[in-house]
Amino acid sequence: EASTETRGFETEAKQLLHLMIHSLYSNKEIFLRELVSNASDAADKLRFEALNNGALYENDSELRIRISFDKEANTVTISDNGIGMTRDEVIENLGTIAKSGTAQFLSNLTGDQKKDSHLIGQFGVGFYSAFIVADKVVVQTRKAGASAADAVQWESEGEAEYNVSTIEKTDRGTTIILHLKKGQEEFADGWRLRSIIKKYSDHISLPIVMQKEQHGEDADDQAPEDETINTATALWTRPRSEITDDEYKEFYKHISHDFAEPLKWSHNRVEGKLDYTSLLYIPSNAPYDLYNRDTPRGLKLYVQRTFIMDEAEQFLPLYMRFIKGVVDSNDLSLNVSREILQKDPNIDSMRSALTKRVLDMLDKIRKNDADKYAEFWKNFGQVMKEGPAEDYANKDKIASLLLFATTHNDTDVQDQSLDDYIARMKEGQDKIYYVVAENFNTAKHSPHLEVFRKKGIEVLLLSDRVDDWLMGHLMEYDGKQLQDVGKGALDLGNLDSEEEKKEQEQVEEQFKDFVERLKTVLTDEVEEVRVTHRLTESPACLVVGEHDMGAQMRRMLEAAGQ
Ligand code: ADP
Ligand code: MG
Repeated sequence: EASTETRGFETEAKQLLHLMIHSLYSNKEIFLRELVSNASDAADKLRFEALNNGALYENDSELRIRISFDKEANTVTISDNGIGMTRDEVIENLGTIAKSGTAQFLSNLTGDQKKDSHLIGQFGVGFYSAFIVADKVVVQTRKAGASAADAVQWESEGEAEYNVSTIEKTDRGTTIILHLKKGQEEFADGWRLRSIIKKYSDHISLPIVMQKEQHGEDADDQAPEDETINTATALWTRPRSEITDDEYKEFYKHISHDFAEPLKWSHNRVEGKLDYTSLLYIPSNAPYDLYNRDTPRGLKLYVQRTFIMDEAEQFLPLYMRFIKGVVDSNDLSLNVSREILQKDPNIDSMRSALTKRVLDMLDKIRKNDADKYAEFWKNFGQVMKEGPAEDYANKDKIASLLLFATTHNDTDVQDQSLDDYIARMKEGQDKIYYVVAENFNTAKHSPHLEVFRKKGIEVLLLSDRVDDWLMGHLMEYDGKQLQDVGKGALDLGNLDSEEEKKEQEQVEEQFKDFVERLKTVLTDEVEEVRVTHRLTESPACLVVGEHDMGAQMRRMLEAAGQ
């Protein structure tokens, strides 16, 4: 055929393909979930485009996914009447992996199958999962609005190459034919397919139909009849009490492209001035690109059940960029755009309500399940520490969720809250003390800690990059000032006994002349020389002025060439 073109997979796609097939083999039935998920996305996209151009429906507006099989040919076919793809889109979407950070992702692979399959899950290489069970995949697709003669066929055996050709296809949308590998015959089976759909794709909002199986004497005489296998209503529109945990989990996998289960979710309908439903998830694991500025973030936005956009980032602050979910509004216009979202004051109130939901969800985990919260903190604690700077209104609430390493345990595990700290404060202590250093060991062995250790006063040991930034915005918690032990004059006065005070005065008097002489000698080097009571073993230490930059902040600026 003149229009057939053979192309090589992009190197990265090839690498991924190989990995996929080998690391996901133990969970091979997920191929169906991935293909159904794509078909559902394609239906969402068509509905969205058709808002402005109803002609795209071509008199076929009953969107659905059809699944069929042929035992003799050993094939399974998944077909949708969604948006379809043009030739360029087929090449772009199925021949390359255009996602940002692919190279970074590949460099994170360890060669350990278990760990890698987890990473692959985060990457979400959905379509290629077809090759777990098939040794040949044929995709036939026609874009909504294109003519029947402008359809495309993509065909590959999952190795180095694929073919693209122009075909004739009257019905709009995408059909994927899987030629099952030898040994995978089990999937060309109605009962098996139905149970996989039920298990993984029940939450999909459009009908997944199969032909009814006919049995008995006159099976051949009966006209084929369709049946819908799934519940086929948007999951978030159903009452909470009727949704199982498994359904919530599968829905999460569909919207997040994550293979792992979510840590927790919160599903709410708000009625009143604003009318909307939200379903928010906290993932179990941080994505490999959590700190990449271009990482997609935000919620899936629907307006009255119609999909509007992915990655609507206006509904949550940046420090909650790891949250996945859906928000479905009854008040927004179907024509809403990102620009409009940015200006709409209603979005601001939804954003603060959703932010509170997330904070409440976290608070619940913290109070009820310490292990789960520790897991959360390990993955997302660094990001949460950006919170007080970005979200001043919720500063105290965020602060109550922070965990720190402290001199209480003296280990680098961040597992103590500010409330834990306060509960252990010494009689007369009115401040929360902390030390910041470039790594945990430096913090732990800081000479500034000597007097605190001697007096048995706990100090937070901070060594994350974001910590100076955090403390610069936190300032106080529960009416207690946060005090850097490396800054300014330390007034531990009310923690000293009368004898200690007297003793200190005597020492100061005794060293008066010495201090004066040091001041003269060091006049160009230091601003001030003081007798200190904060050291017990080291003879002297340098202190930053009360209003000067923190040591870590200074190092960061120096590193940036300032
Ligand atoms: P993801 O779904 O995470 O984008 P996939 O590998 O599952 O990644 O799919 C890659 C892309 O191929 C999709 O983003 C979509 O653009 C396109 N695609 C896959 N299946 C279909 C389909 N049934 N209809 C239209 N486009 C599809
Ligand atoms: Mg997909």
